[in-house]
Amino acid sequence: MRRYLARSWISEKLEGGPSAIHGMGVIARASIARGERVMEFGGLALPGEAVDTDIHRVRSIWQADEDLWLALPLTDTAPSLDENLNHSCDANCGLADEVTLVARRDIEAGEEITLDQGTWNYTFEEGVYTVDQAHCSCGASDCRKDLKEDDWKLPAVRERYRGHFHPLLQRMIDRG
Ligand SMILES: [Zn+2]
Repeated sequence: MRRYLARSWISEKLEGGPSAIHGMGVIARASIARGERVMEFGGLALPGEAVDTDIHRVRSIWQADEDLWLALPLTDTAPSLDENLNHSCDANCGLADEVTLVARRDIEAGEEITLDQGTWNYTFEEGVYTVDQAHCSCGASDCRKDLKEDDWKLPAVRERYRGHFHPLLQRMIDRG
């Protein structure tokens, strides 16, 4: 099994700041080139049954594989910038593997870093951190407005993010 980081790695080109989309976001403080790695998600590696929002930070919870999740315990109170990562229907970043976030295009200093939930989410289970954004106001010209757990099935989403889906969803796509 791959060794996952105990905490997320965040590019030093990123910082927290007010978001035009939702609350606090992740902002580029320097230009980022297409393909550049910007985050690697980490946390305690846990089976699904051990993930519990009573003891884990809800926005830190990330599914790595079928029954493998990453999460930070509530006892860890240090900030982790990936918890501020917002959804956009025209996200400038995407996944290179189950934990690595890369720039899909060149990003300028001051731009907000975003990831489309349609590239990794396939369930709206209670506690999944996109719930507070189910009604999207990301500002994209083709914003989907109501985010759903099957957005990954939409042809436009598949086309836009080709090669940048979570491997779990990619396998579901490949199965047809
Ligand atoms: Zn949107």
